[in-house]
Amino acid sequence: MSIAELRGQFPFYATANPCHYLDNAATSQIHRQALTAMAGQESCRANVHRSPYRLAEASSHAYGEARAQVARFVNAAAADEVVFTSGATAALNLVAYSFGETLQAGDEVLISAAEHHSNFVPWLRLRQRTGIRLRVLPLLPDGRIATASLAEMVTERCRLIAVTHCSNVTGAVTDVHAVVAAARAVGAKVLLDGAQQVQHGPVDVQKLGADFYAFSSHKCFGPTGVGVLWTRGGVLERLPPFLTGGGMVGLVSLETLSFASPPARFEAGTPPVAQAVGLGAAAAWMMTLPWAEVHRVESALLARLLDGLATFPTVRLIGPADLEARLPIVSFEVRGIHPHDVCQVLGEREVALRGGNHCAQPLFAALGSAGATRASIALYNDAADVDALLDGLEHALKVLS
Ligand code: PMP
Repeated sequence: MSIAELRGQFPFYATANPCHYLDNAATSQIHRQALTAMAGQESCRANVHRSPYRLAEASSHAYGEARAQVARFVNAAAADEVVFTSGATAALNLVAYSFGETLQAGDEVLISAAEHHSNFVPWLRLRQRTGIRLRVLPLLPDGRIATASLAEMVTERCRLIAVTHCSNVTGAVTDVHAVVAAARAVGAKVLLDGAQQVQHGPVDVQKLGADFYAFSSHKCFGPTGVGVLWTRGGVLERLPPFLTGGGMVGLVSLETLSFASPPARFEAGTPPVAQAVGLGAAAAWMMTLPWAEVHRVESALLARLLDGLATFPTVRLIGPADLEARLPIVSFEVRGIHPHDVCQVLGEREVALRGGNHCAQPLFAALGSAGATRASIALYNDAADVDALLDGLEHALKVLS
C-alpha cells in the first residue's frame, strides 16, 4: 500500500492545505471509514440499552458491534472485556478509582518516571485518599524505563504495576514481558497505558499478558471523545464502579444497591455511541493493514529524522538513538532555544509539531530537561514531511540563535 493510497483514505489530505502534520502523538488524523460510520447517525440515532422500538434496537446493535470490533482489534477473549470510556485518561482514572478502592494503606502501586500525567496524577490522588505507597521506576539516561530495577522495587506489598506501553515523549517501548513477569511473581496486576502504541499496532492483549490496557480513539485514526479500557476476563466482576448513575445498576432503593455486570457497570450514563461506532470502524480498518510494511515505512522515516537531527550540533535527542524497541515519536532540545519558539517558527512553515513538557513533568525532571520539541510520525507521513521539518529547523536556528 503506497503512502498516496493511504493518504487518499484520509479526508484531511484532500483539504486545500493539509500541512506537514507531525503531531500524531497528540492526535492522529481521522480515517474516512470512521467519519462514514458516524454519519450513520443520520438514520440510526437513539439512546442505547433503554427502549424496545426498532431504532433504539438498531442503535444498541451498532454500539455492541463497535465493542466487538474493538475487541477483535486488540484480540480480547470476549467483547465484554471492552469498556468504552471518554478516552485513555478516563480509562486510567477508572482503574485508579475502582481497583484503587480495593487497596489499603501500605499497599504498593509501582509506576515509572516516564508516565504521562494521566497515569501519574490518578495515583498521586489515590495516595492522598488511601495512604497507598507509590513507588516510581527510574529511567535510563536515554529515557527508557529501567526495568532492571523491577527486582528491587517489586515487593510483596505490590498490588499493581501501572506503566506506559510506549512513552509519548521518548518513543521508547516498555519491556512488557519483564513487567508482567515481575508482577506475576508477587501476584500483582499490570496496567498498560497503550495510548501511544495503538496507532503503531497491532496490539494483542492476550499475548501481552497484562490485566488492564487503556487507549484513546483519537490517537488511532478514530474520533475524539471515546476511549477504551480492556480488562482481562473476570477482573472487572470483582471491582466496584467508578462513575455511578443510569445504566450501571441492578436494584436501587434507599436500602438496596446492586450493580450491573461489566461492562455496563463501568459505563454510567449515556455512552459515546457515535464515537464508539467511529472507533469501531477505525479499528476494523486498522485490522486490514499490512503492519510489517507499515513498520518498515515508519522506521525508514524515523531513521531519516534521527540522522537529520544528528547533524545539528546544538540538538539533543530525548530518547533512544537506536531504532530498536522504540516508535517514531521523537523529542529533542535545541540548546538555548525554547521549544515553543521552535514550534512557532516551524508552524509558520506549515510543519505541525508540539513543544513543552508533553504532560510528563516527572520524565523531564528525571532527565534534567526543561522541555522539548516533539515530532511524531504516523503511517501517512512521507519523506517530504521529515525534510520540511529538518529544513525548517535549520531556518529556525538561523532566526532564533
Ligand atoms: N497516555 C499517554 C502516553 C498519552 O500520550 C496520552 C495523550 N497525550 C494519554 C495517556 C491521555 O490520552 P487522552 O488525552 O486521549 O485521554
